[in-house]
Amino acid sequence: MKSKKILVWFRNDLRLHDNEMLVEAIAKSDSILPVYFFDPRFFEHTDVQTLASGNNRVQFLLESVAALRVSLQKLGGNLLLIRGRPEDHIPELVNQYEIAEVYHHREVATKETNVSSAVEDLLWKLKVNLKHFIGHTLYNKEDLPFPIKDIPDVFVQFKKKTERDAIVKDCISSPESISFVEAEEWGEIPEYSSSAVNVPHGGEEEGIKHLKELLKSGAEIYAKVSGKGGADKNSYSSKLSPWLAVGCLSPRKVYWAVKTAEKDFGSNANFNHLILGLLWRDYFRFMFKKHSGNFFSDTEIDFDAAVRVEDQEEQLQLWKDGLTGHHMVDKYMTELNATGFISHTARLLVATFLVYVLKISWTSGATYFEEKLIDYSPASNWGNWANVAGGGKDPRSKNTFDLDKQIKMLDLEVH
Ligand SMILES: Cc1cc2nc3c(=O)[nH]c(=O)nc-3n(C[C@H](O)[C@H](O)[C@H](O)COP(=O)(O)OP(=O)(O)OC[C@H]3O[C@@H](n4cnc5c(N)ncnc54)[C@H](O)[C@@H]3O)c2cc1C
Repeated sequence: MKSKKILVWFRNDLRLHDNEMLVEAIAKSDSILPVYFFDPRFFEHTDVQTLASGNNRVQFLLESVAALRVSLQKLGGNLLLIRGRPEDHIPELVNQYEIAEVYHHREVATKETNVSSAVEDLLWKLKVNLKHFIGHTLYNKEDLPFPIKDIPDVFVQFKKKTERDAIVKDCISSPESISFVEAEEWGEIPEYSSSAVNVPHGGEEEGIKHLKELLKSGAEIYAKVSGKGGADKNSYSSKLSPWLAVGCLSPRKVYWAVKTAEKDFGSNANFNHLILGLLWRDYFRFMFKKHSGNFFSDTEIDFDAAVRVEDQEEQLQLWKDGLTGHHMVDKYMTELNATGFISHTARLLVATFLVYVLKISWTSGATYFEEKLIDYSPASNWGNWANVAGGGKDPRSKNTFDLDKQIKMLDLEVH
């Protein structure tokens, strides 16, 4: 009898722990072929003169993929690395290795879902199934107290009902043994030189290390990890987002680690803040799932004094380079450019400045963040930008975005 082989297509789920797709593939097959694609679209220039991914983001991703490969090697296998578009290679791999099924984690934003739809169409012609998993959220879609189409657009309602009526499932254990398909060539991690300093390292182990470090001091974590000075002095930042974005950490892993820490240290505002962040993350993903491309279709601000396009380009460049003349905005943009990370408070401030002071389209800011942020995640980025710009699906509420507060923090008169 022919053995059943499953191709496991890793995307933003670069981990062994709490990976339902991987565990199910192992259970339902005789052997698996784990594959990661270095998609050229990830490294390209965009049509608005930004890079799809800047240095820091590329480095973080490469380290995360390399770490996954090492983890799979420790289990006696490997990770097949391919430079190219998944839709150009998966059908070929299916034929070459006689793959019976392909598994992947479904994404929610258009660019990413277009890729899996193209793969699905091609596989359909080969009569091979592309199985979708939804493993990026804290709450599983099927455990929510409402179907996707009825998820409240208002965040506080989503939060209240979800926390009351849904449960966070336990983490799925990492596999202890895997049977791998044999491949002759496993491919190389692209050579990459980056001058990144103060950028965290990618990879599951690094993410878990950071999480443990963060929680081991319990109530003291605020003092330890929050920024000093400026708008950051009152804001807590766990800096977990880069690992969450590429899936080196699962949100459930973070959630249950916090719950364990609460047993040792008691509940505190920082733990609550972390869990709240995970809910915001879920909210944006589910909003994208519910509304897809229409999520921010009505987000356009009509300023009376429209700024000339040429002036805007210059202003936009100054904003990107941290040379606006506003000390706080410049400090945060410089930090973003150097490290690929700024806190939520800092993101709100620079975004407010771009949209309400410079009166530049929020999409230019979102595209720049896509290049720079090492935690770039489509739903979280575009969703938060849309909220700043007064769109999104949560009707304007101070809970979602408080313009007055932001303007006050910028210490500016804005008309
Ligand atoms: C304009 C703008 C763009 C943003 N772009 C991104 C992005 O591309 N990727 C991204 O992960 N976050 C984005 N955020 C949300 C948020 O700023 C970051 O998740 C957070 O700053 C990451 O730092 P942290 O890990 O210390 O977060 P913490 O405050 O410690 O929160 C814990 C986790 O919860 C999640 N989270 C917290 N707040 C939010 C939020 N408002 N929306 C979505 N998830 C949240 C993150 O995964 C985060 O790691 C953006 C916010 C703004 C205002």
